[in-house]
Amino acid sequence: MSDATPAHPLAGHGWTPQLDELFAPLHDAGLLPGRISRVDRGRCDVVVADPGSGPDSDTGSGLRTLRADTAAVHDPDPVRRPCTGDWAAVDPAASPLPVLAALLPRRTAVVRVTTGGRSEGQVLAANVDTVLIAVSLAAEPDLGRIERFLALAWESGAQPLVALTKADLAGDAEHIRADVAAVAPGVTVLPVSAVTGGNMEVLAACLSGSTALVGQSGAGKSTLVNTLAGAELMTVRHVRDRDGKGRHTTTTRELIPLPGGGVLIDTPGLRGVGLYGGEGLGQAFSDVEQLAAECRFDDCAHGTEPGCAVNAALADGTLPERRWDSYRRLRRENAWIEARSDARLAAERRRQWKVLQKSVRDSGVIRRR
Ligand code: GDP
Ligand code: ZN
Repeated sequence: MSDATPAHPLAGHGWTPQLDELFAPLHDAGLLPGRISRVDRGRCDVVVADPGSGPDSDTGSGLRTLRADTAAVHDPDPVRRPCTGDWAAVDPAASPLPVLAALLPRRTAVVRVTTGGRSEGQVLAANVDTVLIAVSLAAEPDLGRIERFLALAWESGAQPLVALTKADLAGDAEHIRADVAAVAPGVTVLPVSAVTGGNMEVLAACLSGSTALVGQSGAGKSTLVNTLAGAELMTVRHVRDRDGKGRHTTTTRELIPLPGGGVLIDTPGLRGVGLYGGEGLGQAFSDVEQLAAECRFDDCAHGTEPGCAVNAALADGTLPERRWDSYRRLRRENAWIEARSDARLAAERRRQWKVLQKSVRDSGVIRRR
């Protein structure tokens, strides 16, 4: 080897020379770089380079996992709170617990809107290169749900990849693959089976760097994790498969190193995903947006206008009604979320402005006019 510099112990976890540069001032302040592997209330697990041996030393890997307090980086906006996959600066000497002193800027983030009264964002995984969407072939795949997952994945800034799991249960997996590929422009769709092992090596070869694994509960995510990691890390509970209610209990880690390099971030099973606005939807429906750009009028509402390319494609069947409806529904949802978060941001700005005005008034600056 001509390069004498040994690889950084966290290189397998995605640490780069750019991050090293970004981290320099934090390093000078005595902080350690680490990647968050799990978050609980007020605490997180963070993987750091192991300077020697110790009680939490993960012998041989050059790494160890610290449990750290996250209070110092708490943020009122849930999207800005630490999440699995984040790079952080840790003060390992803090007492009684190491402290997460800072979060490094994210390269990508998988964010969904939590269901419930407040449309708040929830980060499922940070700094991933690929979003692996697991879809079970135990039943007919729901194309609308896949489109939603794809919009979420594109919006993260990472590249989506669809794994059609349990391919051994599908009568004609290739036929279904083609149907799914038709709603996933620019995305590889791969039928896999943990039972026959079919395409598992292909899938493993498609994953490099960091991958977030998303999907509904019962989609076969735990089984995928175990197969890709080559170890029984997740307990797969054998329950009624007909209603898709497979359950798993995750062991302590959510950030799993893969034998071929890179890491897999497991996310909780999602019933549905609310979009968090943004450009991801346009990427998930790039075929539809391209079509709409071909309409005669720039502001075509795709109603009764002459020269409407969308209507022509709906009429000749090149654009299925289902996909068009799905696109419009998600667009409306996106607009609503964006309006709500804009309203929230505006309210927050007004509040900050009032606080500022009050502090200025209290200091007597205004009265001096
Ligand atoms: P999770 O909830 O997404 O983590 O799903 P699990 O990995 O727990 O799997 C749910 C159910 O699907 C379990 O009963 C698994 O044994 C089953 N399963 C997972 N992968 C496959 C597969 O490739 N083929 C078949 N036939 N069953 C599978
Ligand atoms: Zn039109």
